[in-house]
Amino acid sequence: MLKYKYNGGLKLDNPYPINEIDLIRIPLPDKVVLPMQQRIGNQAIPIVSVGERVLTGQIIATIDDQRCAPVHASISGTVVAIDEHVYAHKSGLKGLCVTIESDGKDEWVDTSIGCTEHYENCTANTIYNKIRVSGIVGMGGAGFPTHTKVRLAEGCHTLIVNATECEPGITCDAALMEAYPTKVIRGVEVLLYICKAERAIVAIEDDKQDAIKALKKFCNNENITIEVMPTKYTSGAEKLLLKSLLGIEVPTGKFASDVGVLCQNVGTVVAMFDAVVENRPLISRAVTVAGSAVKESKNFQVRLGASYDYLLSFVDIKEGSHKISMNGLMMGIELDSTNYSVSKNTNCVFIDQLEESKPTKECIRCGLCNTVCPVDLLPQELYWYSKSKNIDKAVEYNLLDCIECNCCSYVCPSQIPLVNYYQHSKALYKQQVKEKQQTENARERFEFRELRLERNKRERAEMMEAKKIALKEKMAKDKAQKAVIEAALERVNTAKSAQGSQDDG
Ligand code: SF4
Ligand code: SF4
Repeated sequence: MLKYKYNGGLKLDNPYPINEIDLIRIPLPDKVVLPMQQRIGNQAIPIVSVGERVLTGQIIATIDDQRCAPVHASISGTVVAIDEHVYAHKSGLKGLCVTIESDGKDEWVDTSIGCTEHYENCTANTIYNKIRVSGIVGMGGAGFPTHTKVRLAEGCHTLIVNATECEPGITCDAALMEAYPTKVIRGVEVLLYICKAERAIVAIEDDKQDAIKALKKFCNNENITIEVMPTKYTSGAEKLLLKSLLGIEVPTGKFASDVGVLCQNVGTVVAMFDAVVENRPLISRAVTVAGSAVKESKNFQVRLGASYDYLLSFVDIKEGSHKISMNGLMMGIELDSTNYSVSKNTNCVFIDQLEESKPTKECIRCGLCNTVCPVDLLPQELYWYSKSKNIDKAVEYNLLDCIECNCCSYVCPSQIPLVNYYQHSKALYKQQVKEKQQTENARERFEFRELRLERNKRERAEMMEAKKIALKEKMAKDKAQKAVIEAALERVNTAKSAQGSQDDG
């Protein structure tokens, strides 16, 4: 039973019920297309060339940027292209990818060097480095490099493992926990060892009874608690987890690490176990394939870079027109095709039957949206201020705290895409802040220039004055010297005249 609660949220049934939560390991794909751009940071730079043979687990791209993780070959074979492809991202932008054709051997790089299960013999620094070179990023969809996140939380008091599954319909984390409960618990122990937290809480929703049983069976560490939470969307949001588990409110613009908590997705914890204990970099992940057009939802352990088409070839898809989306119905994105590849943060691919969308109507001020906001905002007010481009007012109503969970849009009887308005307002606000900063910088530069001109003028006047004084002093000195010389000459002439008079006498 949770000690703390948050308001709002939605109790949503799984729209794609699943008979058996298995993690199916599918055969090696013939080809992988690996994106160099991960969620944030700079694009990794390929260190292989076309025609080169690569081994599974070999680093093929890297960059010296703490916000980036290296990219590894997910199969052994030959690099056949390094070129641009459209990423599975709402921007629809292209980015650099490395394409590898499989040799069917899955020949690995040497994985014998590393920490092994005796990781306590390694320093925390060695383990951080191992996580970094293993290319691990947040597997819940955030894609933030794990080594940087863990470093930021060094010395935290609590570690929270997010096993809540971020959205209804996604079951890949449940499948992972059922398949590898010991990896989850041992991975948590590795994290506890390096971040020095006093305790760890594995937060899991009550609709995952088999995963709960599996974890409880293998957890005999008194510093690790398995906390069963009621199934509610969006309990898995980081700030809400802190609120409901610890009663901690994370202030606007701050992160869990700012209040002494490290949050990690359960998939990330398993990837860390693989990296630290088994010396295997991140080359595959669990992905849910489901949807109203999919006859039976399934979870696959698939190599990174495998195409969606390859993944979908392992499920039966109903005839008809389809809607394709990734990473969830609430916060995921709609895609124009299946011509994409699985990346480190792809947790699901949904194929739904295309339905006629209901038209958007005017806001009827029913207030329903206000009742479901999990972070206690007033979505209706935010909507009106956003619509009228009154960004300052929207910010005053805490627009920046909106986690874009879509709960408000989901219940809106007028089908208003509320989150689109909030995203637009946030972008305008960012632009405003940027412009304000630019104006401020320009004002500072102008004031500095004025000060500099004033100072130059003053210094020039002081210099002229000093020169004038020096000239006057020199003239006075010259005059005095001249007088001395004239007096001396006078004396000489007088002496000469006196001498002449004596000689004449
Ligand atoms: S999208 Fe934003 S405003 Fe709407 S319910 Fe979620 S947090 Fe609240
Ligand atoms: S739920 Fe929709 S119609 Fe109702 S107040 Fe909110 S925005 Fe308006």
